[in-house]
Amino acid sequence: MAVMITDLCINCNTCIDECPATAIVSADESPLADAEFTYVKPEKCIECVDGSVPKCFDACPTEGAIVWDMPYTPEFNAYYVSGHENGTYLIREHKKKGLLSPEAQPRPYRETISLEERKSHAPLAF
Ligand code: SF4
Ligand code: SF4
Repeated sequence: MAVMITDLCINCNTCIDECPATAIVSADESPLADAEFTYVKPEKCIECVDGSVPKCFDACPTEGAIVWDMPYTPEFNAYYVSGHENGTYLIREHKKKGLLSPEAQPRPYRETISLEERKSHAPLAF
């Protein structure tokens, strides 16, 4: 995903309008069943690779609400597709292209963030 939002989120929704990739939606608009928190669509997040810091992190008033997740690349296809199947993520299904999985549509990611930080869902910090 790129980044994900945790249960520390206070649903202020400040991050939504800041995202250059329109990857963030409110709990009410989340594709997850019974969502309680603002949600990042992993198939859209580009980790704000062109900026010095991710815009959502810059806007968020809540320490630890936004954490790293795995790169949205073919290497992590099974990770995201299994999350789609168990409802952790709900990746968009395009009418013609099908599931917009990491294999079908890889996204840019920050190579400076280690896989350890991503696996442990370390909070963003700059
Ligand atoms: S890292 Fe950037 S692209 Fe990803 S959700 Fe945050 S603001 Fe959007
Ligand atoms: S800015 Fe932070 S606390 Fe507010 S909705 Fe986004 S992730 Fe949650």
